[in-house]
Amino acid sequence: MKKHIDHAIKALQETQFDIASLQEDVELLIDVATGKAHHLYSEGLCPAEVEGFDARNSDCPVCCAIARLQGRPLSKNQRKEAVNA
Ligand SMILES: [Zn+2]
Repeated sequence: MKKHIDHAIKALQETQFDIASLQEDVELLIDVATGKAHHLYSEGLCPAEVEGFDARNSDCPVCCAIARLQGRPLSKNQRKEAVNA
């Protein structure tokens, strides 16, 4: 049993999974879903029918949260990311 626990602890320590960051991202997306927060939609870089649903703007906190949750964090200079490209 101890061996399994040690293995689980080691796996958790090795992962880059950040629970606090995950919770903040989910809370932000809940705010978007309930209308309390919105994408920036500046320069048309946020996901939409015209830009494409995989478009991301690294200046938009909502886009950044989506990208982190999808496991593809946006770099600061990355203006637009087509996630499934
Ligand atoms: Zn956005």
